[in-house]
Amino acid sequence: MGDHVGAKTLVVILGAGFGGLEAAKKLGGEDVRVTVIDRTNYHLFQPLLIRSRPGAFAGRHRAPVRAVLSKFKNMELFWLKFNRSM
Ligand SMILES: Cc1cc2nc3c(=O)[nH]c(=O)nc-3n(C[C@H](O)[C@H](O)[C@H](O)COP(=O)(O)OP(=O)(O)OC[C@H]3O[C@@H](n4cnc5c(N)ncnc54)[C@H](O)[C@@H]3O)c2cc1C
Repeated sequence: MGDHVGAKTLVVILGAGFGGLEAAKKLGGEDVRVTVIDRTNYHLFQPLLIRSRPGAFAGRHRAPVRAVLSKFKNMELFWLKFNRSM
């Protein structure tokens, strides 16, 4: 993805859940560099889980994070599990 080398501020968002994804979308295109880290490459829409059958994990409950954020050039995405010592 594109970088934003002129921007002085780096924002690191841990988790692309409801909070993280909304924050990233708000910062998209702003004069900041944004790094989004999540252990998965998709956003899980939890309110729809209640409609799932036990054991089923339908794709319609997930949105690929890259597809949502790829239009923003000031964003980097990483798929890794963070822990307390990071
Ligand atoms: C079944 C269910 C139904 C719900 N229905 C509703 C509803 O109808 N209305 C409502 O308002 N709320 C509902 N909620 C609650 C709502 O989903 C949560 O309040 C909301 O998701 C919290 O947002 P968040 O951004 O804090 O965390 P999350 O949305 O949980 O996102 C956390 C993100 O961080 C990532 N992550 C976590 N730990 C790590 C790690 N160590 N390393 C890397 N990545 C990590 C996860 O992969 C995830 O993408 C529901 C929750 C559930 C479980």
